[in-house]
Amino acid sequence: MRRTLVAANWKMNGNKETVASLLTAFKNGMSGSADVAIFPPALYVPQVAQALAGTDISFGVQNVSAQESGAFTGELSLSMVNDFACKYVLIGHSERRELFGETDADVAQKVVATLKAGLIPMLCIGETLEQRESGITEEVVGTQIKAVLDAVGIAAFETIVIAYEPVWAIGTGKTASPEQAQDVHAFIRGMLEAEDAAVAAKTRILYGGSVKAASAEALFGQPDIDGGLVGGASLLADEFVAICNAAKG
Ligand code: PEP
Repeated sequence: MRRTLVAANWKMNGNKETVASLLTAFKNGMSGSADVAIFPPALYVPQVAQALAGTDISFGVQNVSAQESGAFTGELSLSMVNDFACKYVLIGHSERRELFGETDADVAQKVVATLKAGLIPMLCIGETLEQRESGITEEVVGTQIKAVLDAVGIAAFETIVIAYEPVWAIGTGKTASPEQAQDVHAFIRGMLEAEDAAVAAKTRILYGGSVKAASAEALFGQPDIDGGLVGGASLLADEFVAICNAAKG
C-alpha cells in the first residue's frame, strides 16, 4: 500500500515572515491523511527545520550538487543538506532542466549522489506541450526514467519518489485531466514493473502541474497517482492544507 505524499515546491518565493506563517498554518491545518514534504528556498531550511521539529512534516531542498565539495561557487553539497535533517531532494525539476540546462545525465548523477547520502530523491520528469502534441510523451518520459534506471538500478525505486509533471501544466493553470495523468502514471509504473513488479508496486508516483484544492481529490483518486507536487498553490496556506487533506491516506 502506497501512502499519499503531497509536496510543496516554494521555488524562489517567500521571506522569513511568510515561511513562518505558512508553516504555522500547515502545522495547525493538516489532518494527517497524507505524508507532507516542504521544499523551501535553501536559505530557509534551518528556519523550516526548527519550525517543523517534532511534527510529521518533512522537508528538503529544491536542488543539490552531485559533487562532494570544492570550487563550485553557488552550489550546495549533500553533506550540507544532511547537516539540516532534510529528508528529500527535488531533482530534475523542469525549471532546472529548461532554465539551467540540466541534462538527463546530470539528473542521474544527482540521484546517485542523493541515494548515497541517505536522502530520498524526488525525481521530476515530464513532456513539453510540443512533445505531447507530437505524440511522443511516453518516449520522452521513458527516456528520462531510463537515464536514472540505468544509473541506479530498479531496487532504488523503492526509495525514489517520481513526480510526473507535464511542463505545459506547470504554473499555467492548465491541470492535466485525471485520465491524462493516470495514463502517463500507468505507463511509468508499467516501465518499472517490467523490471521488478514488487518494486513498481511500492514506488510513489506524484502528479504535478497546477494542482489546486478543487482538482486534488479526483487526481489522488486515480489508481497510479500517489499524491502531488504543488507549486503555486503551496504558497497559499488554506489551499495547500485543503490539497493535503484531500488525500485518503
Ligand atoms: C511545480 O513547480 O512543481 C509545480 C507543479 O508548479 P504549479 O503547481 O504552480 O504548476
